[in-house]
Amino acid sequence: MCSIGDDGTEHMEPVAFTELYQSVCRKCSEVKAQVVLQSKFAYCRTCFLSMVSHKYRSTLGKSKVMKHGDKVLVAFSGNDSSVCLLDMIQSAKDDGKKKKINTEMVIVFIDERPVKGGDEQDITSISESIKAYEFPKYYCPLDSMYEIPAPIPLDEAPGLAISNESIEECLQNCKSRTSAIDLLKKVRHRLLYLLAKDLGCNKIFLPETNDDSAVNIISNIALGRGDQLPLDVGFMDDRRGDIVFLRPLCEISKKEVAFYNAFKKLDPIVLPSVIDKVRTGDSIQSLTENFITNIGVTFPSTVHTIVATGTKLLVDRENSHGVCGLCEATISTNDDPLSSAKATELSSRMSALGDKSADTSTSETVNYGRCSSANDCCSKRCKPTPSLCYSCLLIAKDFESTETWPPAVRRSIDEESSLEAMRMKIEDYLL
Ligand SMILES: [Zn+2]
Ligand SMILES: [Zn+2]
Repeated sequence: MCSIGDDGTEHMEPVAFTELYQSVCRKCSEVKAQVVLQSKFAYCRTCFLSMVSHKYRSTLGKSKVMKHGDKVLVAFSGNDSSVCLLDMIQSAKDDGKKKKINTEMVIVFIDERPVKGGDEQDITSISESIKAYEFPKYYCPLDSMYEIPAPIPLDEAPGLAISNESIEECLQNCKSRTSAIDLLKKVRHRLLYLLAKDLGCNKIFLPETNDDSAVNIISNIALGRGDQLPLDVGFMDDRRGDIVFLRPLCEISKKEVAFYNAFKKLDPIVLPSVIDKVRTGDSIQSLTENFITNIGVTFPSTVHTIVATGTKLLVDRENSHGVCGLCEATISTNDDPLSSAKATELSSRMSALGDKSADTSTSETVNYGRCSSANDCCSKRCKPTPSLCYSCLLIAKDFESTETWPPAVRRSIDEESSLEAMRMKIEDYLL
């Protein structure tokens, strides 16, 4: 509890952890507590597992998006939350007491290991860790985005990652680690979407926790993706229409995942990733993660407040035109003077004006992505850009050329750009 002292400074009353750990479970009031959540809620092992499983089921249940006959692709990476998600899916399936929706599950492991960073045992360890689950299991390397993505059974996966050189080379050409991480995330999501299509799935489960959502909220705002927040951090991402991304662990914290895995004796496997080979140093994403992790230890409720606030936001579909060729979110046309795009535009105008920068009242507006002139192109600074949202445009600027991007992504950008050009041509004729 927070209180103001006589000297006017704020004091945090120390939480009596020892007392809480020695207390009885707050739910059954019988068994000695084994875990304390948010520095105040003590649970025994059984009540904790039942509470966390209930959170998973209620997240899916209250959304009412799951239907009989759904085929779900479960994105499995071997990390804490993906191990926990698989076990929860299996436990919900095995629970004969509850009324169930008949769904089909398919596990897909995307191999992100760098060319010389993998180990022959890696895939065997992944296979071993999930062999108890009777769902079909598939394997696909990230580099399949440079061909036609086709999943192969996990048992037939190659032991050594020798096929991720294209994406590794692409990411190494990026000037900033922040943009490389952002691009990798978008490419991974597109690959999952293509694999889901190939396997006939209509839903994708992402193992993202409440803490991941908090990190995504803060880092997305820093990256200028504020208008995409509801899709990037909410329970459901339906930007692609036919296949929906769901985050069934979005109400479960990383701490709960860690205790769930420990109590159930589930071992996560951390494998190297192509991103480890990209320039070292800090990124907006890693700094945000450190910030959220630290704040989660000292002020656990703050993380919940960040997520609760972020997930209440809605996508403004009315003030948008076209679709971003990379992240596939709609491109905002909102002229809010406080947006990231407007801030960058102002900064660019000031830099371009040089000594005249003090007088901004008569300055020309630099056009980003589209020319607003009714006749010919309005100025030399007006460059038509590909169909990318503000943040994806920033990623593209960190690459000398987007030629190294996966062909499927480049094709999508070209298609969206052509559609946008066509739309602008016929705009004047539309009633
Ligand atoms: Zn209990
Ligand atoms: Zn985008």
